[in-house]
Amino acid sequence: MITSKVDTLIFNASYLITVNKENQVHKNYSIAITNGQITHIAPTEELAHLEAKNKFDAHGKILAPGLINTHTHLAMSLLRGWAEGVDLQGFLDRVWTAESLTMNPENVELGTRLGAVESLLAGTTTTLDMYLFPDAAHKGAVSAGIRHISGPIFLDFPGLDGLQWEQRIELAKNWQQVLSEIGGPDVPTFLMPHATYTLSPSHLKQVSELAQQMNAGISIHISENLSENDQIQKKYSKTPTALLESSGVLQSQTIVGHGVHLTDDDIKILAKFHAAIAHCPGSNLKLGSGIADIKKYQDSNLAVTLGTDGCSSSNDLDMWSVIRLAANLYSERNGAENLKADQIFRMATIEAAKALGLEDSIGSIEVGKQADLILIDLNKPHLIPLHNIFAQLVFAVGRADVSDVWVDGKHVVAASKSTLVEFSQLSAQVEKVSIRLHEHSKK
Ligand SMILES: [Zn+2]
Repeated sequence: MITSKVDTLIFNASYLITVNKENQVHKNYSIAITNGQITHIAPTEELAHLEAKNKFDAHGKILAPGLINTHTHLAMSLLRGWAEGVDLQGFLDRVWTAESLTMNPENVELGTRLGAVESLLAGTTTTLDMYLFPDAAHKGAVSAGIRHISGPIFLDFPGLDGLQWEQRIELAKNWQQVLSEIGGPDVPTFLMPHATYTLSPSHLKQVSELAQQMNAGISIHISENLSENDQIQKKYSKTPTALLESSGVLQSQTIVGHGVHLTDDDIKILAKFHAAIAHCPGSNLKLGSGIADIKKYQDSNLAVTLGTDGCSSSNDLDMWSVIRLAANLYSERNGAENLKADQIFRMATIEAAKALGLEDSIGSIEVGKQADLILIDLNKPHLIPLHNIFAQLVFAVGRADVSDVWVDGKHVVAASKSTLVEFSQLSAQVEKVSIRLHEHSKK
């Protein structure tokens, strides 16, 4: 009989989705957590004698690993609905103007806190977030309790943070120090060169060398739409992916945002370097950028993960709608008989953890991993009966069904409310920024 003491016992979960190698799903299971780590996974009766500081009854609920969003710009939640009826290039024009009026460190911290709270309430426990003032962004995100991977952003021009190139390099060199001062759940180091249309090949090369020195990953936008590809082809006689290869970027663990229009050679290059795609179907469809052929990528051993993109192009940070869109688009393109719902769910969990280099710590429910967990309340008309659990997760569950969230064993969402951020206060602060933006834009 097990008699040891644990920090938290989540007991009696009606279903436990492990997303482990065997993709096991257990019924009537419990798990125990100590120091943020999963220590026991067993049938409820076997853990009944554990002494726990916190006990949580998960009857009627699905216990699953937290979702991982591999491409977003959380602070852009402040610009939700600001750039409508435009394609990518029109979107960038409109958003960059609004950003210059709104985004300073204080507002980036606020916008990222808002984005992090929205993400957590929807069951996303880890985000790969690219934005200017990444230290402010990280503070905002950590204050909400999310596992937040941010990193210094690189552009050829000063941008609204006003940083010159050398200052960007300096910030990157100090980034690990910045992360440890701010604290929060452990995250890997990432550098974030924005795109091949905003960085010269020589600057890309510098970032890639720095990333290798720092053992850092890289997050970058690639081949989001056809005019981006045309622009790069005209300028360098290469595809954006070929440019990444020749500048050495792919030597580091790379997550490519969007990757909608990749040639067969591009796919081979990305697969050869073990890069991963952050497939953002919501944003891609809304901006009319195109639909990535993810089956083709996967058939060529190119890993596919899922992202929302920022709120000014996808309008929300709901990974469930991304999961459902990815599945529906997959069926439409490849035939419903080829769709495996469990594989789509893996893209939002363990596949993303692998792409981030975090497969030993998150992405599935296994002993020894960090407790990044969500509970989904099945006591809803749209979630009964339950004949096929992965079909339910992919095609029926929505963010309002997420009742509780733990990150690193910390209970950051309880009964669908953030335990760390007071919503009325957050809402009042966001409203103030929004009023200022409207006033400025009328001038
Ligand atoms: Zn993006």
